[in-house]
Amino acid sequence: MDDELDDDLIFTPFEAAPSRLTIDLGALTENWRMLQKASGKARTGAAVKGDGYGLGIEAVVPALYDAGCRDMFVATPDEGMLARQFAPEARIFVLAGVWPGVEAQFFSHDLVPVLVSEEQIACWSNAVAFDEERPCALMVDTGMNRLGLSVEEALALADDPTRPASFSPVLLMSHLACASDPSHPLNRKQLQSFQALAKAYEGVDSSLANSPGIHLGPEYHFDVTRPGIAIYGGEAVDGVKNPSLPVVTAETRILQIRHAKAGEPVSYGASHVLTRDSRLAIVSTGYADGYHRALSGSGVPLRQTIQEGGFGFVAGRRVPVAGRVTMDLTIFDVTDVPETEIRAGDYIELFGAHIPLDDAARAAGTIGYELLTSLGNRYQRAYIGG
Ligand SMILES: *Cc1c(COP(=O)(O)O)cnc(C)c1O
Repeated sequence: MDDELDDDLIFTPFEAAPSRLTIDLGALTENWRMLQKASGKARTGAAVKGDGYGLGIEAVVPALYDAGCRDMFVATPDEGMLARQFAPEARIFVLAGVWPGVEAQFFSHDLVPVLVSEEQIACWSNAVAFDEERPCALMVDTGMNRLGLSVEEALALADDPTRPASFSPVLLMSHLACASDPSHPLNRKQLQSFQALAKAYEGVDSSLANSPGIHLGPEYHFDVTRPGIAIYGGEAVDGVKNPSLPVVTAETRILQIRHAKAGEPVSYGASHVLTRDSRLAIVSTGYADGYHRALSGSGVPLRQTIQEGGFGFVAGRRVPVAGRVTMDLTIFDVTDVPETEIRAGDYIELFGAHIPLDDAARAAGTIGYELLTSLGNRYQRAYIGG
């Protein structure tokens, strides 16, 4: 029965897909190499959590591995197990750490837990006591009140002669709260705390910088950097021209072009009323594809604070979203595109080479990270440059 079902699964070809993503692995590895240069003497790792920022661990991890990346950071044990298939010799750090019941996954796939609390340290120490020595990492919270031991706990532990021998961290970590804003005073405060920690854990490698942290300067690099978003083409530092190459292009197919009259409403809630006779392109992407409802041209609370909604790009022009984005469909106003240059079946770019990822994210009141990790699984994906 299952076999028959499998035989019937014929996917729409990329050329005719309702919505599609082109993912440029050449640009991805080029971005990683730029971050490697910017990281100076530090080894450059990669955050591949969130399914490789939405682009697919099974594509992103081998590309980065081939480029020479040997320190990968995932969120969960399952992501670690998947990443292991494509990065046989890399150290794979699991940021969620470990808890009773998942230790076996770490052992069988040679994953390194990033321990975040005394409870987790006890859990790991107990588990490895019956096994050979296993590496772990230690996360210390230096100022954002997210995961990690407190600075005081970590300093006390460094000097504790009674700590279990099976607790042998290979990497000391902390995470910056405000690195995207280089002028924020918390950056330096966190740096000073982390310098004290690195000293207390002399001989253990240390790691503080995410993508924007790398740009705060060499003091922030320590032994290993952990860039994420800048590898995937997103903006890292606020107010600075994005140096990363775009990696993802999202496109959607025009299912229908309709003519509508001035005074007529568009989409749910009739929130958008046409002020001129218009041509509308109805496309095959909606919020179920991660094209956020907040990108609507009107009829959502965000439009009271950020006037403009999302834009697409077609036939050399930017075209605005008209009215509300719906689950599977979005409406673009293409009145300004000459009638001979656009028809049903054409594709509109949602973001990519012409509409920067972060412009689309800002129109949705969010960040590139969230747009990428909510892409969903209805897009046909083509990986190029790998
Ligand atoms: C996500 C994450 C990173 C990467 O951050 P970017 O801002 O995407 O560069 C690095 N370290 C930790 C602990 C993270 O959670």
